[in-house]
Amino acid sequence: MIDRGHFEDLLDFVLPRGCVVCRGWMPGRVGHFVCSVCRSRYRAAPWPRCERCHHPAGTGRSERSGCLECSPWPDTLQYARYGYALQGPAGRVVHALKYDGWDGLASEMGSVIAAAVSDLDPPDVVTWIPTTDRRRRERGYDQAELLARSTATILGRPCRRLLRRREAAASQVRLDPLERRQNVRDAFSPSGTVRLDAARVLVVDDVLTTGATGGAAASELAAAGAGGVTLGTFARALPRLEARSGQASVA
Ligand SMILES: [Zn+2]
Ligand SMILES: [Zn+2]
Repeated sequence: MIDRGHFEDLLDFVLPRGCVVCRGWMPGRVGHFVCSVCRSRYRAAPWPRCERCHHPAGTGRSERSGCLECSPWPDTLQYARYGYALQGPAGRVVHALKYDGWDGLASEMGSVIAAAVSDLDPPDVVTWIPTTDRRRRERGYDQAELLARSTATILGRPCRRLLRRREAAASQVRLDPLERRQNVRDAFSPSGTVRLDAARVLVVDDVLTTGATGGAAASELAAAGAGGVTLGTFARALPRLEARSGQASVA
């Protein structure tokens, strides 16, 4: 009988793995894809933050003006939470999950999302912002579904497919915020006949950019009866924070 420690050593020997971010050798720790050095370089957003969306306050506007980031969102999108700023290793990890086929990354990214939503009431159900069926076929998986399933497992909550994404929705990557909102307004439809009976829904995605996609998903979930929606992502694009930290590193 071979014990688990020896089995893991053997696996490492047979299947040597490098860190997804730095490609560095990573002995032991089966089930991890990012080395401890790269994980220590993940950047959390500074406090204070907006209570609703956790955008850091004080990035070039007065506190009294309210949060410019989440004010365009529909009321049904009650909260947004994220693990890290989308820069450095976090950006590389998101890319590796989405485009490089590193689907095993979803479990450690899901634990980051579960921790990020831990200040809120637990959701009744976890779902995800789906990609189109065509892209899912091309990629072999939907990265947001993998993240949602791992987040739900850690939270001990059910995970269900509640949304479909229409094929016509263009890629969001090159659009400005207004174009994004127009593009995603009709992007989603309910998956089957879902009645949510005022359930609290956690909708998971890899990255929060403007919240336009999350807002459209939340509106669709509200139409299906959701009582409130939280958007939980692994990372958030914080371009003003990045600009500020860029200046700081020059000084
Ligand atoms: Zn590394
Ligand atoms: Zn906000």
